[in-house]
Amino acid sequence: MKTGYLIDMDGVIYRENRLISGAADFVHQLLATGTPFLFLTNNSAPTPEDLAVRLKHLGVPGLAAKHFYTSAMNTAEFLTENDPECTVFVIGEGGLLTALHERKIANDAIRPHYVVVGEGAATMERLAKAHECIERGARLLATNPDNWCPVSSEKTRPGAGATAAFLEASSGRRAYYLGKPNGYMFHRACKKLADLALGTPENIVMIGDTMETDIRGAVEAGLHSYLVLSGSTQLENIGDYVYQPTRILQSVADLVEEIKTGKACDRLNSPAFGINGLHSTKSGNRHQTDIFAFHKPRPRPAMTK
Ligand SMILES: [Mg+2]
Repeated sequence: MKTGYLIDMDGVIYRENRLISGAADFVHQLLATGTPFLFLTNNSAPTPEDLAVRLKHLGVPGLAAKHFYTSAMNTAEFLTENDPECTVFVIGEGGLLTALHERKIANDAIRPHYVVVGEGAATMERLAKAHECIERGARLLATNPDNWCPVSSEKTRPGAGATAAFLEASSGRRAYYLGKPNGYMFHRACKKLADLALGTPENIVMIGDTMETDIRGAVEAGLHSYLVLSGSTQLENIGDYVYQPTRILQSVADLVEEIKTGKACDRLNSPAFGINGLHSTKSGNRHQTDIFAFHKPRPRPAMTK
């Protein structure tokens, strides 16, 4: 059986509103050869249908909702499996609301079991409401741990991790973070990939541009991992991490020939070295999962009784 691919999107297929060179050919070869693949994204804002349309407009046709698995879908599956009767108060966009709705998880602004935090849609009013829900006993769940997400090479936006961190600070409660690198995300993605392939692929490879999410998650899930340098990671920083990718590629363009012929490339180190590409120079922790602060619950104020 063929190799199956789990593929990150931002920094791998596109950056801002432009395709990464060779990405359209890469996806075309995956489709043409019947290679099993699934796009895996921590962005909980879009639905899979939104993502298929976006890629079509960027010049990658032929994709359908079944080719995408988002952290919002992962969150809805997690709740369905672990607490099927639960209710939720949500700070998030259409992709998260739709995923929860499809799983028949009810919205509850009075006494929810969970506050679910995704990308976007945070207003002070919603945050205050979520804070009240947590004080009344709701547990805090975030779709993904990203504090910030790249918008362009010079610009970022706040991510779900930052919103969850706000509520962690105000409530003294610690959030549980789904999405990459959480093992549940990889476990469910592998299952979905096997369903698409009508059987578990012999090898599963995660392709991504971010060490803390894509590569760490793949290593912990026992998968192969290919790091591409077309996104947020610079070659000279890879040695800082205890977990390492199986291969380092300049971009997914390096895989086109390999997928076409079905023969594994032996360029383990690829032509990636010495590239001066589009790289983020943003400092600061990008992901909540690598932060060990905020562990202590906030003491209750004396005046509550
Ligand atoms: Mg990425």
